[in-house]
Amino acid sequence: MSAQVKYTLEESQIPKFWYNIAADLPTPPAVLHPGTKQPVGPADLEPLFPMELILQEVSTEREIEIPEPVRDILRLWRPSPLIRARRLEQKLGTPAKIYFKYEGVSPAGSHKPNSAVPQAWFNKQAGIKKLTTETGAGQWGSSLAFAGSLFDIDVTVYQVRCSYDQKPYRRALMETYGAKCISSPSMETESGRAALKENPDTPGSLGIAISEAVEVAAKNPDVKYALGSVLNHVLLHQTIIGQEAIKQFEMAGDDPDVVIACAGGGSNFAGLAFPFLGLQLRGGRKRRIIAVEPAACPSLTRGKYAYDFGDTAHLTPLVKMHTLGSTFIPPGFHAGGLRYHGMAAQVSQAYELGLIEARACEQIACFEAGVQFARAEGIVPAPESTHAVRCAIDEALRCKAEGKAETILFNLSGHGHFDMGAYINYFAGNLVDVHYDEGDLAMALAGLPSVAAQ
Ligand SMILES: *Cc1c(COP(=O)(O)O)cnc(C)c1O
Repeated sequence: MSAQVKYTLEESQIPKFWYNIAADLPTPPAVLHPGTKQPVGPADLEPLFPMELILQEVSTEREIEIPEPVRDILRLWRPSPLIRARRLEQKLGTPAKIYFKYEGVSPAGSHKPNSAVPQAWFNKQAGIKKLTTETGAGQWGSSLAFAGSLFDIDVTVYQVRCSYDQKPYRRALMETYGAKCISSPSMETESGRAALKENPDTPGSLGIAISEAVEVAAKNPDVKYALGSVLNHVLLHQTIIGQEAIKQFEMAGDDPDVVIACAGGGSNFAGLAFPFLGLQLRGGRKRRIIAVEPAACPSLTRGKYAYDFGDTAHLTPLVKMHTLGSTFIPPGFHAGGLRYHGMAAQVSQAYELGLIEARACEQIACFEAGVQFARAEGIVPAPESTHAVRCAIDEALRCKAEGKAETILFNLSGHGHFDMGAYINYFAGNLVDVHYDEGDLAMALAGLPSVAAQ
């Protein structure tokens, strides 16, 4: 088997621009102020973000330049490899070709530093010395901690309690990069104290942790807030993944028919898929593009497309997105990075327009796929990424049943070296397919804010 399996670009081929899909999608529903429910302007977001990032958030320019100092740091791990999973293809006995883009080569072990570095850089340019954020599985917290250490920015991370308790090594990594890590909900903020009062045993949620981090930034003029997913500018920063993949497929003389990524807030999915979708929106061929979410937190497949808050305490603006309701607390399953009640507005819009598909997978089937992948290709996927692996394997098996030699691309958003506790539980037979409570979901959806039709 001498055929090439790994497609590597030169450092000089790291994209020079981020791709902004807003240029190619219809005008999206407005973002609304949480109090007045009127459309927000850039000035409304200034307490939380530096102006350069706000301008990216609302930009409709197709290409936004990546500052040279940011590209210089991205060179530490980019361009990331595109790999043909030949051994997995053989084990499955499929005529399909399976490729994956591997984002686990970054310092934090996932795609998240792709946005943490530019976010820290634009904050630094604005003279900011302190950032707050939240983290679910610990991936985003470590990424921002790493980026903060490059620019001498103090980073405080509110880590969702169940993950804080389950993943001491993630916390140690954040502290190694110099960040301060606090279990959320905490006694340090009003939002945290309120959540603890309501339920002292809560496993926490990204919605609560976001409230805590936003509250601290909103109350302190010298502190800004950074979000690791969901927002337009975060999705924008991740588009280097798909842009590189397009060049790598040219090298391979191939072209994907199916593009797959897991979706928590939607950033690695958008990062891989939007550059391909952009080609289609500008007259190129149509590909199937699939977002894979956990069955325990199914915002695209079971949520409502409606205006909702990004956090539990309702401090963030209202965004039209697929949501399970901002008060919905998903069960504490293992892919912590996918435990978010909402979905990025642009991913939601693309789904609503029928441009992408969505699929929900149970966690045991995902770990099964993760183990199968590790035994064929050597890389242990992060629990989040196993959702993309599951879907890619299912598509390859469909190709086998239909006798079709399609080309499948998926994003391996991260490695699972900090998540071996979850694998231990899987091998011990301790994992169950957790289901959210239908009653809780109905209640959270009934509590969606009422907003005049937009
Ligand atoms: C955070 C994370 C995700 C989910 O976040 P998205 O914004 O949906 O990409 C997926 N995979 C890994 C490895 C993560 O760390």
